[in-house]
Amino acid sequence: MDIDRIRQLEKADANYLWHPYTQMSEYLKEDPVIIASANGAYLQDVHGRRYLDGVSSLWVNLHGHRHPVLDAAVKEQLAKLAHSTLLGVSNVPAIELAEALAGIAPRGLTKIFYSDNGSTAVEIALKMSYQYWQQSPGGKGKRRFVALKNGYHGDTLGCVGVGGLAVFHDLFKPLSFKAFLADSAYCYRCPVSKSWPSCQLACLASLEDILALHAQEVAALIMEPKVQAAGGMIVSPPGFLKRVRELCTRYHVHLIADEVAVGFGRTGTMFACQQEEVIPDFLCLAKGITGGYLPLAATITRPEVFQAFLGDYGQFKALFHGHTYTGNPLACAVALANLDLFTEEQTLAEVQTRAAYLADQLEPLKELAHVGDIRQCGLMVGIELVGDKESKSVYPPADRIGHQVILQARSRGLIIRPLGETIVLLPPLTIELAELKTMVEIVADSIQAVTGR
Ligand code: PMP
Repeated sequence: MDIDRIRQLEKADANYLWHPYTQMSEYLKEDPVIIASANGAYLQDVHGRRYLDGVSSLWVNLHGHRHPVLDAAVKEQLAKLAHSTLLGVSNVPAIELAEALAGIAPRGLTKIFYSDNGSTAVEIALKMSYQYWQQSPGGKGKRRFVALKNGYHGDTLGCVGVGGLAVFHDLFKPLSFKAFLADSAYCYRCPVSKSWPSCQLACLASLEDILALHAQEVAALIMEPKVQAAGGMIVSPPGFLKRVRELCTRYHVHLIADEVAVGFGRTGTMFACQQEEVIPDFLCLAKGITGGYLPLAATITRPEVFQAFLGDYGQFKALFHGHTYTGNPLACAVALANLDLFTEEQTLAEVQTRAAYLADQLEPLKELAHVGDIRQCGLMVGIELVGDKESKSVYPPADRIGHQVILQARSRGLIIRPLGETIVLLPPLTIELAELKTMVEIVADSIQAVTGR
């Protein structure tokens, strides 16, 4: 691209774009990276510079960019139909994908409600659970939700209500409902000052206390199975998820599994719930559902929940919720092709091989002076940086340590995005081993360049 055009784009970016989760005063001082094309695990900017996509374009890309099968699926569907509504009418790819999703979801989850992003998938689960109880004998009192501290479920107001991250959610909390917040299994900073496994998951006591006191008021508990992603890639120890499921069953509370980040092979199994043989009442999916191609989400539940919404029209038991692009045929077609690729390319087995290799590569980073904790589940990694390892002291947010590290990585050809002072690595599931090695080397150099000063 010629330099005049690049300058025009940079100027227009600065003049017109408001980037999400970005302090724009800071952004406007930095050289912008404007992505123009991509291939495999690499993104390329307008100057022709190549970058490894270390966060899969915000945790969505699975099989690499411009995969011929996925490209073809979009093109083929485009030749037939780009969009038609699901409000009272159906379309071919939406039906086919629903059937395919019901086939791979945990047992019994067969009713698929589409939307177009992770937040809406969660909002829909919250509303479905609430309305289910409102329409079920004896359930009227169940109007509240339980969520976990450090949890993140999206940015719309219902999601803020169940959000457990103060920096993102506290300002907006007064606009939403108030959920009960229970401890999460953040072992590096254990909420009950114990260590796993001798703790025997003592952190669950706070959840059990809430349910013992308030179960009659609670419609559902929402959690991110196995990994609290935006909270800093906090990996829960084995058994935690299963115990939460048992508590929900015992106290007659729905379990909403928010697999927006962990779903579609990210943790090594198709869905993270499957690692502990847990069947939630609602499964929320988005991000990887289309292999990173188009916006699509699904909220999946059991027929028994669906049945509670049936009745004569005048009873107004239908779910009064729906989005314009619900079940978009282009997105559903590419999502179907994405699922086919999992089978054809044995993606899940490949993830496990890559995850093991990545763990080996990360091992030496544990020795770095300011690396407090490295957490990994499948191809999800969080490297928590600390001012002091002994005291686990956090860096002052104003120092922007995480941000500095990602700028260093960028200058070395890797695009990543931190969560505060936790460096996140979430490469495409099909990244080559040599690319994984390069990614970790760049991260190690970048951390040292910033923290070694
Ligand atoms: N739930 C989880 C677990 C997420 O990680 C995210 C996004 N990072 C969301 C929900 C919200 O998804 P979206 O940004 O597509 O609204």
